[in-house]
Amino acid sequence: MRVVVYGAGQLAQMMYLAGSPLGIEVQAVDVNNDSVVHPVSKTPLDTTLAQALESADALTVEFEHVPERLLDEAAKTGKLMPDIASILVGADRVREKKLLDSMQVPNCEHRIVTHPDQLADCVDALGDKLILKASRDGYDGYGQWRLTDKADLPKLTQAMSQLNLAEVPLVVEKMMAFDRELSLIGVRNKQGDIRTYPLAENLHHQGQLHVSVAPATQVDDELQRKAHDIFVKLAEGMDYVGVLAVELFQCGDTLLVNELAPRVHNSGHWTQSGAVTSQFENHLRAVCGLPLGDTSAIGPSAMVNIIGCSSFSRELLSIDGSHLHWYGKSVREKRKMGHINVTAKSYVELGEKLEQLGQFLPLSFFPKLVDEAQRLK
Ligand code: ATP
Ligand code: MG
Ligand code: MG
Repeated sequence: MRVVVYGAGQLAQMMYLAGSPLGIEVQAVDVNNDSVVHPVSKTPLDTTLAQALESADALTVEFEHVPERLLDEAAKTGKLMPDIASILVGADRVREKKLLDSMQVPNCEHRIVTHPDQLADCVDALGDKLILKASRDGYDGYGQWRLTDKADLPKLTQAMSQLNLAEVPLVVEKMMAFDRELSLIGVRNKQGDIRTYPLAENLHHQGQLHVSVAPATQVDDELQRKAHDIFVKLAEGMDYVGVLAVELFQCGDTLLVNELAPRVHNSGHWTQSGAVTSQFENHLRAVCGLPLGDTSAIGPSAMVNIIGCSSFSRELLSIDGSHLHWYGKSVREKRKMGHINVTAKSYVELGEKLEQLGQFLPLSFFPKLVDEAQRLK
């Protein structure tokens, strides 16, 4: 079987690695030049995009910001999974909010802003602690602005008048004082079968995911059930096929959906060694119409992102249950270079292993690691 992935980054690479044992060949499309490349070496394959689409059993995406012209072309084949509407929901926060509201899925209180003068109304309606998000092309906290003091409103309004809000509106959200950030990774296959993974707890730094712990601590059956139900409602409502990531804010026993990612997700990387079946394998199974794999966790695990740094000792592999996943990219500030998965028999042991990990890494690049190690211990 063959799956073509739009996007040639680390997610396509990890799908390729997961597909090999199943005999599923993964090819990647470099959307910058429409070429078909090997997902690991990134070298061009001896096939045109048209030929690759023709010979594929399924087409999918590794990121939601694929040019619409390519998505249209893919959709015409009838093989694009998830479908174009689901991908565009992930690519456009206005569509995303409309979908969540129409399905009555709880999310952060918000307004859509198409003119800078409307920001004053947002302050009246939502208060003076706001987060402004460009409706398109934002990720890792890029394309976001914060208002923390009403006195800064004129300055912010002025800054927003430099953008074309009529074309790319803002979603303005009330800044939530949530207890913590969780995510639910789930999968639905072509036949409509659904499985969800245990909730992961995600620690962010400067708008970027740094550490995930899964299964999240202090999750009772009811909270997991609530998250599962949100997933089922969304996936069935969208007639979704593939892995869908749901980012959540936990406020007491309420779960608010922050955003959706119509693809395999960074907060699901722990599944590579922490779950019976990885999110990458399950995504491929789903789009190929195969039975889904067990999503149970094997034990407590953590995923640590390596961000903007490449100088660390591979000796970290001496920690039992640790695995390095390196993406082979050139170093850039704030760029995700790779990640480390660690599994343990208990949360205390996981904390100890994260602490050990800290001895092999330049800690200025890993601000969340030490705190999390201490918390778990
Ligand atoms: P990603 O890389 O996950 O796609 P993104 O750039 O699309 O990120 P969001 O996930 O919307 O952006 O926001 C990034 C982070 O900012 C969140 O994980 C959360 O820590 C914080 N954040 C976002 N919205 C709110 C909110 N309404 N209230 C408080 N914090 C928020
Ligand atoms: Mg996002
Ligand atoms: Mg996010």
